[in-house]
Amino acid sequence: MNAPLPKRKLKVATTSLAGCFGCHMSFLDIDERILDLVELVEFDRSPITDIKHCSPDCDLGIIEGGVCNAENVHVLHEFRKNCKILIAMGACAINGGLPAQRNSLDIRDILAAVYAQPGRGVHIPNDPEIPLLLNEVHPLHEVVKIDYFLPGCPPSGDAIWKFLTDLLAGRTPTLGHGLIHYD
Ligand code: SF4
Repeated sequence: MNAPLPKRKLKVATTSLAGCFGCHMSFLDIDERILDLVELVEFDRSPITDIKHCSPDCDLGIIEGGVCNAENVHVLHEFRKNCKILIAMGACAINGGLPAQRNSLDIRDILAAVYAQPGRGVHIPNDPEIPLLLNEVHPLHEVVKIDYFLPGCPPSGDAIWKFLTDLLAGRTPTLGHGLIHYD
C-alpha cells in the first residue's frame, strides 16, 4: 500500500519509452476534463510540457511503452527515483506489447535484415548518440518497481480519467466493466 497523496497540487510526469504515443494520445481524449485535471495537478516532464527531465519531487510518474534500449533504462530509473508513485500505462508498459514481438528473434538477425541495402551489404548505424538496443524488450516491472498498472492498448480516455480520479481521491483505482479494452 502506498502512502496517501498530499493535499496540494500534485506534480505529474509522463513519458513514452518503447511505445507508439497512442497511450498519450488517449490521455488527451479526456478532452475538456483536462481543465479539471490541471486544477488538481501540475505537469512536470511530459510531451505536454516538453520538459526534458523529471523533477526530484514528482508525485506521479505515468509511463507508456516498454524498455527496449539503454536510454529507456536510464529514463525509467530517473522516474523511479523522482516519483513517489509509478504507473505503467498500456500494454507495452505492462507486458512489452507489440515491440516485444521481436523477443523471439536474435537482435543481430533483426538489425541485419533492417539495414541490408541491395547490392551494398549491411550498414548498421553506430553513432554513439544512438542508444544501444537491448537484446529483448522488457515490461517496466522487470526493471523497476511499479505501483499501478493501467491496462489497454491504449487505455481509453475514460479509463485514464477514472484511474487518475480514483488515485487523486485516495481510492485504489478500479476499472469497471466497459473500461478495459484492446483495439
Ligand atoms: Fe501504443 Fe498500444 Fe503500446 Fe499504448 S499500449 S504505446 S497504444 S501499442
